[in-house]
Amino acid sequence: MKKAYDVIIIGGGIVGCAVAFELAKRGRSDILLIDKEYLSSGATGRCGAGIRQQWGSMLNATLAVESTHIFETLEDYTGYDRSCGLNQSGYLLLAYTEKEWEQFQENLAVQHSLGVDSFTVGLDENIYQYVPHINTAGLYGATFCQKDGHADPFHCTFAYAQGAKKMGVDILTYTHVDQILAEQGKVKGVLTDQGEFSANTIINCAGGWAPGLAAQVGDEIPVFPERHQIMVTEPVAPLGADGKYMPMVMSFSRKFYVQQTPHGSLIMGIGETEPISFNINSTWQFLEKCSKVVTDTLPALKELRIVRQWAGHYDMSPDRSPVIEFSPHAEGLVTICGFSGHGFMVAPRTAILVANALCGEDDSIDIKMFASSRFQSGKLLLEPSVV
Ligand SMILES: Cc1cc2nc3c(=O)[nH]c(=O)nc-3n(C[C@H](O)[C@H](O)[C@H](O)COP(=O)(O)OP(=O)(O)OC[C@H]3O[C@@H](n4cnc5c(N)ncnc54)[C@H](O)[C@@H]3O)c2cc1C
Repeated sequence: MKKAYDVIIIGGGIVGCAVAFELAKRGRSDILLIDKEYLSSGATGRCGAGIRQQWGSMLNATLAVESTHIFETLEDYTGYDRSCGLNQSGYLLLAYTEKEWEQFQENLAVQHSLGVDSFTVGLDENIYQYVPHINTAGLYGATFCQKDGHADPFHCTFAYAQGAKKMGVDILTYTHVDQILAEQGKVKGVLTDQGEFSANTIINCAGGWAPGLAAQVGDEIPVFPERHQIMVTEPVAPLGADGKYMPMVMSFSRKFYVQQTPHGSLIMGIGETEPISFNINSTWQFLEKCSKVVTDTLPALKELRIVRQWAGHYDMSPDRSPVIEFSPHAEGLVTICGFSGHGFMVAPRTAILVANALCGEDDSIDIKMFASSRFQSGKLLLEPSVV
């Protein structure tokens, strides 16, 4: 194996693999991607893989809309010969207060300005056309977008990785990056448990571990890992209208999401604040709490058996938007993290943004706004609609 590269990418989640692909697509060569385990072994392989365009901030909506367009053709885009499992079964978003409903109206205006076909759903018989089993008690209003949905996080990651490999990217798994090497304010390479590899550009896509690696050269990125649990029921017949599978049902104020997958299982989670840690153990308390919250809105699910649960961590940033940091301490180092629980769905467009910046290509989004200096300047990238 070669020891000298132009670019080293740390992290084989969807972000690292998509960045590798986009760089290779732009003609960059001599790229090595390293992961300490297997591709998608981090948050990516543990996520709900929901993809929604119903965002409240223009920035997130833009990233999500343009990423969705790529997910829609990801197999052709990357030359992948299997399905990436995109299923656009829709998202029904629920508002439980007048204030939340007003926010939804503002969100719709943002979405419509980007051409998203999202709309309000009446609480009369109309809502049952989307989710027949919904309990509308306490509900103020709802919005729906058919083009929202979910995909297979493993296949999406593998599609990018295989596409990158075909263009010459080397991928090294089960290799731990112990140290980012820098000299006189410039990166030089990485020290791993398989030896040293040199490169003048290092792209740190290590998810929740990224701030720890960046700190080795003095970059202080206030992103921290937070456990989030998720669970799955036995498969059942379609619970949506007209024999369709139930779309994603999500509430920001009640902090839950639940969707039916194409093989009939329901996958669900809740928003919980946890201590900062890499702990990804599962708890029975989560099963109880999540079941209670979700079945208040969907009582029909009370009869279902839970077959599996697991956890992963969100890489949380203070304003819950991503950080893209061109290191002020080690030239050539870029850290991409802080996706705060929605990095899967925005990874395709984020990778394009980073690749454009590294290849000197223009982009309609100003990458500088993602720098962590925003936490000092107060120019936060706030998002009103997250679980
Ligand atoms: C329960 C749960 C549900 C979620 N649901 C959704 C959802 O519905 N929609 C959505 O958009 N997002 C969701 N997310 C968030 C999403 O999973 C992440 O934002 C996204 O996967 C981040 O991708 P990444 O590539 O940045 O990080 P990761 O997937 O974490 O990849 C980082 C990689 O870096 C590697 N690495 C770390 N340190 C080192 C090192 N020192 N040396 C070598 N390799 C290293 C790791 O092994 C890992 O593979 C969810 C997350 C969780 C936990």
